[in-house]
Amino acid sequence: MTLKQCERCEILKPIESYESKGSRICKECKEEHRKQRMERYSKVDLGLDALDSSLELIHCMRNDVSMAYQVSYEKAKNLVQEGRATVYSSDTIYKTEKVKTERFNDVKIEANFTCHYCGEYGDTIDHIIPLDKGGSNAKSNLVCSCRECNELKNNMKYERFMDLMNKYGKQELLKNRGNIQKKFTSLKKVNQEILNNINKKNKNKVDSLDDMINSVLNKKTKW
Ligand SMILES: [Zn+2]
Ligand SMILES: [Zn+2]
Repeated sequence: MTLKQCERCEILKPIESYESKGSRICKECKEEHRKQRMERYSKVDLGLDALDSSLELIHCMRNDVSMAYQVSYEKAKNLVQEGRATVYSSDTIYKTEKVKTERFNDVKIEANFTCHYCGEYGDTIDHIIPLDKGGSNAKSNLVCSCRECNELKNNMKYERFMDLMNKYGKQELLKNRGNIQKKFTSLKKVNQEILNNINKKNKNKVDSLDDMINSVLNKKTKW
């Protein structure tokens, strides 16, 4: 059995007690060290004013202190304002919220794996405000969703999707999914033409998306 002395506790331990052959301290000491660091970071909160706004990049320590990365000052400020991080020093914030995968799991467990939109079994995460529309990964922006509702909603606004769900129900929306997508693409094209004309005439912008979706679902008018 190969033994190796830990540089921290100075005990001779079998090589299996180390994370890798190159590790200088044993797994137990490493865990102890991590806990101490976590405690140190979580005890300090200097408040947003202490963060140096002249810095372009701010160090961001992950909540389990296993990793630090850099974020822009603006991003750091947002994280603190949203209550997702605290200020440790003028150039470092400490992410108090759990890491993303754990946060996602928490949301699903708290929802009892029930889809927020249709009430059936769900095991995916949906963003209330889509990421590409400025939504964040903050817990307040996350809901548990089934795969179908998640795909149906896509990057639709929450209110619009809730409206459609209430009006037509999931099954009807699923049936017309291809249609909606097709019409949506052609409508975008038409909208652009209309918009160009309107801009020329300096009139108000019109948004006929709702009318279009209604007409697709009611199948009254052909587009
Ligand atoms: Zn040790
Ligand atoms: Zn659903």
